[in-house]
This record gives sequence, structure tokens and C-alpha cells, in this order.
Amino acid sequence: MTAVVPGRPAPDGLRGSGRHDLADLVALSLDALAAGREARGGPVPAGDPRQVTADVDAALTGGVLPQDGIGERAALVGLVSTVAAGAADPADPRCAAHLHCPPLPVAVAADLAASALNQSLDSWDQAPAATVLEDRVVAALAELAGLPGGGGVVTTGGTGSTYTALLLARDAAPGPVRLYAGAAAHFSVERAAHLLGLPAVVAVPSAADRALDLAALAALLRDAPAGERPVVVATAGTTDLGTIDPLPAVAALVRRHAGWLHVDAAYGGGLLFSGRRRHLLAGLEQADSVSLDLHKFGWQPAAAGVLLTRDAAAFAPLARRAAYLNPADDEAAGYPSLLGRSLRTTRRADVLKIAVTLRALGRTGLGAMVDACCDLAAYAAARVQAEPRLELAAAPVLSTVVFRHRGGDAVNGGLRRRLLREGRAVVGRTELDGRVHLKLTLLNPAATPAGVDALLDLVLAAGSAEEAAA
Ligand SMILES: *Cc1c(COP(=O)(O)O)cnc(C)c1O
Repeated sequence: MTAVVPGRPAPDGLRGSGRHDLADLVALSLDALAAGREARGGPVPAGDPRQVTADVDAALTGGVLPQDGIGERAALVGLVSTVAAGAADPADPRCAAHLHCPPLPVAVAADLAASALNQSLDSWDQAPAATVLEDRVVAALAELAGLPGGGGVVTTGGTGSTYTALLLARDAAPGPVRLYAGAAAHFSVERAAHLLGLPAVVAVPSAADRALDLAALAALLRDAPAGERPVVVATAGTTDLGTIDPLPAVAALVRRHAGWLHVDAAYGGGLLFSGRRRHLLAGLEQADSVSLDLHKFGWQPAAAGVLLTRDAAAFAPLARRAAYLNPADDEAAGYPSLLGRSLRTTRRADVLKIAVTLRALGRTGLGAMVDACCDLAAYAAARVQAEPRLELAAAPVLSTVVFRHRGGDAVNGGLRRRLLREGRAVVGRTELDGRVHLKLTLLNPAATPAGVDALLDLVLAAGSAEEAAA
């Protein structure tokens, strides 16, 4: 059966004859993934963007929307294998550019179940058990973050969490608000201010350790116009260097000025699982809101963002009554809905994979994975320091290692593109103090010191090739 049959039901995949279809198609899809991976043969497809474009276009022969469908199997196998062959594979230790984690198989399996069940968390009658599960998971994560009794919601990620948090902060204030954030805060803070119609974010300069400078923040808050409420965004784990702002002191300052503290822990929040490292997040428990990304340290397929608030009632500005979703008499009769916690209406049960993972691995299991990545970063930094052609930018805090080849900006930029073009490695690139730097973001707990050695050897070889070609 390959053709699309008009009027065919869309089974949820877990009942009756539907199960058979889904199991067959999943088996085909897994085979196509393996075939694509094998065709790629490395962390990223070799060739330049034109090659990938040609491969995708070839897989779309006959058009994206043909008049008559080509059938389920052909469409599935063709495109899954093509996208897998052309994928940047976060499960390959040589793919180490971004906060782009290899997902846990158990989380992928749970995510498939979430797709098959297709619950929608905006109303009870579209997601009875998932509604309860999200409530329990968010409560557990709030407790883990030191915000017992707090509120929360599963989001699309750090960008959405921060946007929502800043909206709640704005609406909780009796008057105008102004945002303050460290110079290395994520760009989504500035964009949220723009979207929310707030004044431009005040960039707080960095101190010598590249964290937000406390004296500068104190001066800015002291000199702020009377009647404004400060909303301060502190970062627990910046995207490049993993820097953690001094949370207890920032929290004390914000409290003194009756402000709101949002902690962007999209990256560093994973330290909460680690017995060895959670002390680095001291002060998180004083935040008014916190964002966590479990599609980073948490090993979830995207998306698995979480926004937590100290006060569960902070979500009140999002409350809406829709006659067809959450009528008041249903709620009075004990049918809750999560409509009022999210900016989204239809909202998939991303909570299922999160809950399965938390229970499967526990704090110990997840903490060991976080520690393995951070320990590997320390190893990589030592290896960089031992290489005369490389220069380390800063000691790693979390699991990123920022460094540069001494050959100069063009060599750093060129060697990274060379590694991509040759399909050998995906290394990150950023700028620090006006100079191009390279970055390893180590999020693969199965990666080894030998793998890091091999990756740095590739960087050195590509650097030599660039210098020879210059
Ligand atoms: C990744 C990241 C974000 C953005 O999160 P998304 O999940 O990509 O939307 C925000 N802040 C920090 C510090 C991050 O590392």
C-alpha cells in the first residue's frame, strides 16, 4: 500500500490497525536514517552548499506538491534518507559547534509517542493526562531550581521562555520598566524588548572575568529614573564562554531596587542535575523567573524549553477565556486547562519526553552526563594550551572551549569552512575582543579525550592547509 487513499483515517498509531501502519513506517524511517548516515560518512556532508541544494532538489523530483502523491513509502524513504545524508549529526563527536545535543533514544521514542497521541495542551479535553503531567514536571523542575511552589510552562526554548518571562515582568510592574542585561546576554533579550515595546536594553558592561559587572549594574540602577521598575536579565551560562553572572549579588541588588530578576539558564541550568557543580548556580533560587533548555544539557530532541516563575500567579496576564476551550463552569467543576500559561494555543506534549527522561535517568544519570561534558571541556582546554599554534581564550566554565589559531582571523575563518567543506568536522566560530575565535561546544557525554585529540588534530591540519594556501 503506497498510494494515498482518499478518505483514509489518520490513526493515532497506537490503536488497532493503525499500530501496524506506524510500526512499518517507523521501521522504514529508521532504515532510511541509517542509510543516510552511511552515505554521509562523517559529521556533516562533504561539499559546499550547492551540493546539498542539488541533493535536496533531486529528492524533490516531481515537485514538493505533485498533483498525485508518490506514496507514503517513497516519500518517507526518499526525504528521510536525503535529510539524514545532508545532516549535521550532533551524535558525532566531531560535530561540536553549537548547543545542539545528541538526543537520547528514550527521549526520541517518547517524542514519537507524543506525535502519535497528538495531545494539545491548551484544553483539558484535548490532553487530560498530559495536562496533569506537565503540571507535575514543571513543579518538580521549579523545586529543583529552588522555586518550590512556583509556576511554569514548557516552551519552544530559551528564546520563547525569555520573551514570556519579560512579558510577565512588564505586566507585573505598576509602571514603566527598563531592561538591563550583561553585554554577553543572548540576543533574544534585545529582540524581546523590541517585540514587547520596551525601551532598548541597557547593556551592563562585563567585569574582568567577563561576567556582568556588579559595580556597573549598581551604578546604573542607582541612576535610573524614578518610578521605573528595573527588570534585570542575568545569564547562567553564556552561549560562548559559559560565563555565569554573580547571581546572589545581582539578586540582592535587584531586590534593593524592587525589580524583577530573570535568570537565563538555558545552557547552565543543566548544572542543577550535578552534585559536583550545582553550587555554581547558587542564587538561582532568588530569581523571579528562570529559563531552562532541556534540548541542551538534558539531551532532548528540540523543543524542550521550560520557563519557571517564583510565583505561580505571575502567569495571570496570559489568562484568556475562550468559550470553546476553557469555559468557567468546566473549570469550576474541576477541569483545569493550561491555556493561560502559554503564548501558544495548540501546544504539543513536549513534556512527555522530558518526563520520561527525568524518570529514566534520574538526577544521578543526568548529572553524570553534564559532568562528563564539563570534564571533557577541561581536558580540551588543557590540550589547546599545550599546542603552540593554538591560544585558549578563557578557562571553560561549562562545556564550551573558546580558542583561536595563531594564524590570524582569516586562517580561523578559513579553517572552519575547510573542515565543513571537506565533511570532516563542525567547529563553532565566534568573535571575542574583535578577533575571530573557534569554539568547541561539548554536549556529547559519549565523546572521549581521544575524540577531542582527533578533533583538535583536524583543526591544526586545516589551519596548516589554510596557511599554506594563503
Ligand atoms: C540557547 C540559548 C538561548 C536560546 O534558546 P533557544 O532554545 O535556542 O530558543 C538563550 N539563552 C542562552 C544563554 C542560550 O544558550
